[in-house]
Amino acid sequence: MAKTTNKKLEERRRRVVAILPILKRTYPNAKCSLDYRTPLQLLVATILSAQCTDERVNLVTQDLFRKYKSAADFANAPAGELEKDIQSTGFFRNKAKSIRAMAASLVEKHGGRVPQTMEELTALAGVGRKTANVVLGSAFGQNVGVVVDTHVARLSQRLDLTDQLLPEKIELDLMHLVPREEWTLWSHLLIHHGRAVCQARRPECERCPIYQDCPMGPKILAERAGE
Ligand code: SF4
Repeated sequence: MAKTTNKKLEERRRRVVAILPILKRTYPNAKCSLDYRTPLQLLVATILSAQCTDERVNLVTQDLFRKYKSAADFANAPAGELEKDIQSTGFFRNKAKSIRAMAASLVEKHGGRVPQTMEELTALAGVGRKTANVVLGSAFGQNVGVVVDTHVARLSQRLDLTDQLLPEKIELDLMHLVPREEWTLWSHLLIHHGRAVCQARRPECERCPIYQDCPMGPKILAERAGE
């Protein structure tokens, strides 16, 4: 049993080593697609991005970041106003509540600055591990974990890099497979590939640059041929 597990792990590591340079060549400019200038802005944008496209969030934050410049500005936003400002990102009441609470804890515990550790970030109201990973990786350049969003989860399963379904468990598997210095970039690359080629409903395996290393690609094409 242990031997089989080790063999599978080795195979998965080999797959990551093969895929990584191809994705790097394919998406040389892969980076966070949320617009931000400061860690606080990235934190707010990431909270807004739940169940919303990054394009929509970027439209909303253009004005939002002109209006609210500091954690105190967000924490003290008049009732109803922040909600109105972020309405088009959906779930705006909950998001406004999270942003206000997160900003209030920044003011109260960190002098208005965004902390740089996983423990402190996840202790902030409304901030989970995924949001903390986004901020640590993209705003602070720290590879503390792997961001697992819907694209990273789907591609990790299709590429047979995990047997898990829950993001936290997929993240642990990826942390064992992907070299630590590549954790942040790895997520950006999978997100780009998930948007451009390996979409949820109809992945374009026939033009996929990592087809030869994807266990699911041939199965998808065979199924499609028999449709
Ligand atoms: S071969 Fe198909 S399933 Fe595999 S990564 Fe490429 S698009 Fe996705």
